[in-house]
Amino acid sequence: MSAAGAHDEFGGEGSQDGADRPALDAGLAERYADQLQLPGWGEQAQVEIARLTAFVVGAGALGSAAAAYLVGAGIGRLAVVDGGQIAIAEMPRQLLHFTPEVGMGKADSAAAKLSLLNPEVHVDPFPADVTADNADVILMDADVVLDCSSRAAVRLLVNDACVGSGTPFASAATGGYDGAYMVVRPRDTACCRCLGDGVDGPGFGLPSRSAAGVYGPTTGVIGSLMAHAAIAILLGATDPGAGLLRRFDGATGEWSAARPSRRPDCICANGSVAGNV
Ligand SMILES: [Zn+2]
Repeated sequence: MSAAGAHDEFGGEGSQDGADRPALDAGLAERYADQLQLPGWGEQAQVEIARLTAFVVGAGALGSAAAAYLVGAGIGRLAVVDGGQIAIAEMPRQLLHFTPEVGMGKADSAAAKLSLLNPEVHVDPFPADVTADNADVILMDADVVLDCSSRAAVRLLVNDACVGSGTPFASAATGGYDGAYMVVRPRDTACCRCLGDGVDGPGFGLPSRSAAGVYGPTTGVIGSLMAHAAIAILLGATDPGAGLLRRFDGATGEWSAARPSRRPDCICANGSVAGNV
C-alpha cells in the first residue's frame, strides 16, 4: 500500500511551510483552488492524492458519482471496472452516460467523460466483469477499492480480494428509496462477509431493485459518500465510521447505522489478516 501516513484529517499538513513544501504549478493551483482552502487539505494532500490509485467496480449510478468526485479531486489514477453496457432504463441515475450512448460499454463511456472532467488524472477503463478468477489480479494495484456494483455476488468477490490483500475498500448498494454502504479496513474492522449470508449473500438488507426500483438521488448520496470514504482512506484520515454499516432512507432522509462484529469464523478473522489485528 502506498497510502499516506496518519493525519488528523485530510492531509493534516496543508498549511505547512518549509523547504520541502510541495509546489503545485499555476494550472493545478487554479484547478484545485477551492479544495485547497479546506482545513487539513492543502498542497501536501493534493500532491499525496495524485500519487494514489482507486478502483471503482461498477460504472453505473453509484460509480458515476464516486468516480466523478475522485477524478475531480485529482486522484492520480482511477480504474473503472465494468463489463456491462449502457441501458436506457438507467438514464435517470447513471450520470456519466448519455442517451446517444445506449448499448455502448460502460467502462469506456465512463472513462471518456472522466478524462474530460480532469485530464490530469490517468483513467483506465477495464471493460470486464469481476469474477472469482480475475478479482485478485484486477484489483491488485489499488490503494482503495470502491464496490459500486450494488450486486451481492460482486460484493463478496471484491470483499474477499481486498481482505486477502489488506486493501481498504467500501461497498454499497441501493434499492427502492434506500441505500447503504460500509467502509472496511481489513485489519481493523468486520468485513462484508461478517454480515452473514442472506438468500444471495450480504445484501445490506435493502429492497430488491427488481421489486422496488431504484431512486436516482439516493444513488448520488451514497456514491458521493463512497468518494468521501476513499479520500479519507487515501489521505490517511481517521474515520470513526469505518466498520459501520450505514443505511439511508431516501424517502424520509433518515440515517441509521450498525457496527457488525467480526465473526470468528470469517475470512477476515483468520490467517494472515487476523495476525495483523
Ligand atoms: Zn469478515
